[in-house]
Amino acid sequence: MKKLILLTTIVLSFNACKNSENNTEEVPQLPKQEFAIIIHGGAGTILKKNMTPEKEAAYKSKLEEAIRVGYNILKNGGTSLEAVTKTINVMEDSPLFNAGKGAVFTHEETNEHDASIMDGKTLNAGASAGTTTVKNPIDLARAIMDNSPHVMLSGKGADTFAKEQGLQMVDPSYFHTDTRFKALQKIKNQEKTELDHDTKVSFYDDTIQDSKFGTVGCAALDKDGNLTAGTSTGGMTNKRWGRIGDSPIIGAGTYANNATCAVSSTGWGEYFIRGMVAYDISALMEYKGLSLKEASKEVVQNKLSNLGGTGGIVAVDKNGNMVAEFNTAGMYRATMDDKGNLVIGIYEDEEEKP
Ligand code: ASP
Repeated sequence: MKKLILLTTIVLSFNACKNSENNTEEVPQLPKQEFAIIIHGGAGTILKKNMTPEKEAAYKSKLEEAIRVGYNILKNGGTSLEAVTKTINVMEDSPLFNAGKGAVFTHEETNEHDASIMDGKTLNAGASAGTTTVKNPIDLARAIMDNSPHVMLSGKGADTFAKEQGLQMVDPSYFHTDTRFKALQKIKNQEKTELDHDTKVSFYDDTIQDSKFGTVGCAALDKDGNLTAGTSTGGMTNKRWGRIGDSPIIGAGTYANNATCAVSSTGWGEYFIRGMVAYDISALMEYKGLSLKEASKEVVQNKLSNLGGTGGIVAVDKNGNMVAEFNTAGMYRATMDDKGNLVIGIYEDEEEKP
């Protein structure tokens, strides 16, 4: 009988939490997880009709590989800081995602990376913007947090700091991928046909704003109750003038606080900065007592959408509840709870247990 009640509770709470209309998902959970991890690989107009089975399988397999790295760290009693960093490293090393190896191109045909990480225990944080030679930008964000008196470094100075820290450096050509290069050329050709583009950046064009897919992020809770969030990206295709998005902005792209939750964002960065999306979710929990799901829904579906922004977040709270909330057609995502249950999703109304 007890078992039946428990099962009914889980099923009911799962149904109550799932709301495909708003692209909201909450993984069914027992009251408290010992540890938990959730990742994203970018959000946007990801439609099944535009995806080949091979491509879909490749994304799912890389998401699984990445999340299992973090899961094993957490399971063995490692810190959420380590789990987030190492999980993001796997996605940074894959050309599939717009981070590290697969970063998109700037207008000047270079690759400029942004990343950030935040420790929910100390509220310490590290961020880097516009780097060009650090192989794994999330490692740099972590080094800035751990080994510098600063929170954010940018450009050449950040690359120099990375080198001094002994991080792996690469020639900028390491980040060249044909797919991303072609995407830039397509946008540039389109730009040429625009009559008035003196001050306009073509990534604001509706038809191409989704060319930025693939920012990566991770939020995790470890066995000591510590929360960490991290995000890494190449930004938006055709960005120029040293444009920096939300990913390295603490409070917009990344936020973590042991008292509330850890959040990593992905989407149209300008709106996430203006909406202070990641911090706002934490603040609604801290000051208004909202649940993670309620807070995420409020910020993404109402505030962000009303501003005109598109994208989503992944988040985990201090009890290990995980939420993937997005207002786009899809978001590459995966979760693992402390029982090792893996759930992977790509499209709006889809999740799969491999
Ligand atoms: N938020 C990133 C940026 O605006 C891009 C993305 O997440 O797709 O730089």
